[in-house]
Amino acid sequence: MLRSVKMECGLMLDNVEVYEDLRNLGCCQRCCLRYLGERNPQSYNCVKETLVKTGLQNDNDFDNGPDRKFFKCNPCIVCLGLMQDEFSADDTVQKIVAGVEKASYDCDIFTCALSLPITFQLRAHSLWLHLADKFPVPFALRELHQEKHVISVKEAWKWTFAPLIAKSINKELDSGVKSNFFVGVNMVYSGDEDECSCLLEMHADVFKIRRAQKRKYHGNLYTRKAVELALQTTEAAHFKQFFPSPPPVPTAPVTFDSITCTHNSLFIAGRYNKFSRTLSQTPWVIDGERRIKSSVQEIISENLQAASKAEEQVHSLECDINKSSKEVAVRDLQIVQRDELVNLKAGEEKKTKRYMALCICSDPIESRSLAELSNIKDLTLSQKTPIRVLHRRPLATRSRIVHSMKAWLLENQTKLCKKENVTLFKLDIKAQAGTYIKEFVHGDFGRTQPSLGQLLGGVYVDILALDVQDIELDWPPAIDYAQG
Ligand SMILES: [Zn+2]
Repeated sequence: MLRSVKMECGLMLDNVEVYEDLRNLGCCQRCCLRYLGERNPQSYNCVKETLVKTGLQNDNDFDNGPDRKFFKCNPCIVCLGLMQDEFSADDTVQKIVAGVEKASYDCDIFTCALSLPITFQLRAHSLWLHLADKFPVPFALRELHQEKHVISVKEAWKWTFAPLIAKSINKELDSGVKSNFFVGVNMVYSGDEDECSCLLEMHADVFKIRRAQKRKYHGNLYTRKAVELALQTTEAAHFKQFFPSPPPVPTAPVTFDSITCTHNSLFIAGRYNKFSRTLSQTPWVIDGERRIKSSVQEIISENLQAASKAEEQVHSLECDINKSSKEVAVRDLQIVQRDELVNLKAGEEKKTKRYMALCICSDPIESRSLAELSNIKDLTLSQKTPIRVLHRRPLATRSRIVHSMKAWLLENQTKLCKKENVTLFKLDIKAQAGTYIKEFVHGDFGRTQPSLGQLLGGVYVDILALDVQDIELDWPPAIDYAQG
């Protein structure tokens, strides 16, 4: 009972017998910690202290005394030297650092992942079978799965070496949630092909067919997934016929091959003002023909496409955009993290927009009835897709909210107004984003209910001009360049 409780915590670090067996087989000290169930990342960083502290090794063993029976200097049988300072470890870290620096991406956070030769799977399986044989308790316990008990080489490598890389490249290591910058590290082993060839006989059904259909598998005969599946269904005795258990000392260490640095889309956020009523938001093309020579999207993105790696260049991009056109101005331009985009998505539905409209009414209206509009709060409209956008939006009925309104007569009604007996007035309106304001004003042949004309007692109202005054969204944050 006591033992099983200890196993659940993953602790059997005091098992000298297992430790010595692993060491004699040629397992490195960090891999010993893995197989003994160590889950504290710190222990992998100070492996010698951990071994002494747990009593697995005497302090003297590390001196250059004559009794150095654990100091076999071979590449480890399961990590092939990846976790050993005397083999690829240091060199790999240095090469990754050099590669990342050469790629010169300007970002503070990075994610890192290793790609290892397939034989790592074979060797891990082989060692597990050996341990289960020799130490049925605890390794052959049914509830004990290798994956649960042993921290993977990749994970242990990350714990041990990724902090060193982070420090050298002066970036923060992240699990991938916040980071847009990914460093993939490809490791190779000269004996990989040879060792994996045992799979052709062990699982002729799978791998001989795969070899015959090499083109279908793009030449990747042994993939991680295929090997994992094959090993899951292999009887121990069958496996041992084709691959030695425990695994043999490797002929050479695993070595660094290459890194690939990739950066996800760059998200640049900002606010803009449009100073022209004729300029559209997006390119306006109908039947392949351009209706307006430019658009907000084009003016801004043409300048952004020269996009940069460096954050400090964003401000100069902002200046370029503002100089390139008098019809658009941007501000608070900044690089943002992917997870911040939810602000924008949420804003699309929830933000409030304020508009100023110049309206005309076919009948005389009194100031009083216009003033009464300000008593209306949070009025729900039912809007069918407007006729003017039906060619590009599906027919639907949506409800939108007009939060508040204020309307007043234009002080100087023109002579024409007086002659034609029409009234000009201004409407200051705050509404939910996505409200079709023009349609609310003129009613769109009854497709928007209620309309402004209905609210004013059944008169006909049309809209002459409409300007967006403000968008209430506290994102992205304002930037004060004077302070920087
Ligand atoms: Zn190792």
